[in-house]
Amino acid sequence: MSTVLIIGAGAAGSVVVKKCCKAPDIFSKVCLASRTMSKCEKLKSECNDEIDIFQLDADNSRAVYELIQHVRPSLVINMALPYQDLSIMEACLKAKTHYMDTANYEPPDEAKFCYKWQWDYHEKFVEQGIMALLGSGFDPGVTNVFCAYAQKHLFDEINYIDIVDCNAGEHGHPFATNFNPEINIREITQKGKYWKNGEWIEIPAMSQNQVIDFPEVGPKKAYLLYHEELESLVKNIKGLKRIRFWMTFSESYLKHLEVLQNVGMTRIDPVDFEGKKIVPLHFLKTLLPEPSSLGENYKGKTSIGCIIEGIKNGKHKKVFIYNVCCHEQSYKETGAQAVSYTTGVPAMTGAVMIIKGIWQGQGVFNMECFDPDPFMQALNEYGLPWHIKEI
Ligand code: NDP
Repeated sequence: MSTVLIIGAGAAGSVVVKKCCKAPDIFSKVCLASRTMSKCEKLKSECNDEIDIFQLDADNSRAVYELIQHVRPSLVINMALPYQDLSIMEACLKAKTHYMDTANYEPPDEAKFCYKWQWDYHEKFVEQGIMALLGSGFDPGVTNVFCAYAQKHLFDEINYIDIVDCNAGEHGHPFATNFNPEINIREITQKGKYWKNGEWIEIPAMSQNQVIDFPEVGPKKAYLLYHEELESLVKNIKGLKRIRFWMTFSESYLKHLEVLQNVGMTRIDPVDFEGKKIVPLHFLKTLLPEPSSLGENYKGKTSIGCIIEGIKNGKHKKVFIYNVCCHEQSYKETGAQAVSYTTGVPAMTGAVMIIKGIWQGQGVFNMECFDPDPFMQALNEYGLPWHIKEI
């Protein structure tokens, strides 16, 4: 019996649930827990009532532990928010159950993410004989595996990596975010950062851009952002001289974001409002469309991958490893748009690697720490085919 417990009934979590239900030979029982029960009930009805559902506040580590004891899963997949990473990891440790997520920990009161908080759990996970797999989404996630694949098969030495993420889709709203609005806006409004010759270089937010020719989408302006996979890839890819992350945004998104920032609506510190304290970004989130509601009218494609440069057999080489995902097809298959789909499918794939014992270990691991081949093969099978283009 391989029971899996998925926490978070949001946009990406719903894809994980549906994909796991489609593989009953691997996931013999799928359990879902989330803060809002009505969302679990909706998902249950969309899955022909095949899943068990539970109300859970995952900030409460004890409640997570008790649910794990009740459900007895082989693996807990955290599809809630980065704020819950540590409380769920604590519960997994206590219950000696494997852990997996798609985004690294972020403290709610500071817009900062880094792996230290989770890497610090390594020894404790070793002692308990369990594993934590961090960042099994697309970016981080598939992008880390693309780099590991390039290191294993395509290069003797990798010198430059540019991770490039384009969503060329149209959802029809003047302003909406493709994943949780609070996490998305915190990520985009922080300073840009990249790594070069052993040093981290910080730049003002959105201050560098370049036009990138994205496969099946064409040339788009992309902005340099700091993204979490840079931190682990710097440690795990040998010979690296520079690594950067680039993301595209629509003109409408950038215009709205600028205004929202200028008027203080993206602030994360509490302000007085009619005798109460409110966090402007929390209030803004309640007004914006839920990412899980965007799928129906979404048109176009995402095109995400890694442009990697280095040396093979003494010669310079440059490749583009990428996936292109269609919003309409993602919606047809799972009821979700492509950003949720490209997050949920790798999460389900990472779970397959752990449950089948293909990726095994004791401690806390990033995706590039394991053999990329079975994961890459499974991506083709589960709906995210990838391609390699020599440049
Ligand atoms: P959503 O906001 O759609 O979903 C989050 C879900 O988590 C909601 O159902 C929410 O419940 C639930 N939740 C929040 N807090 C708690 C809590 N304390 N206890 C229990 N449940 C809780 O976000 P997404 O699905 O878009 O994103 C989910 C995660 O995926 C995020 O961490 C995001 O950063 C990550 N992500 C990773 C990507 C990657 O490529 N690696 C790409 C995109 C996203 P409620 O409905 O009550 O609010």
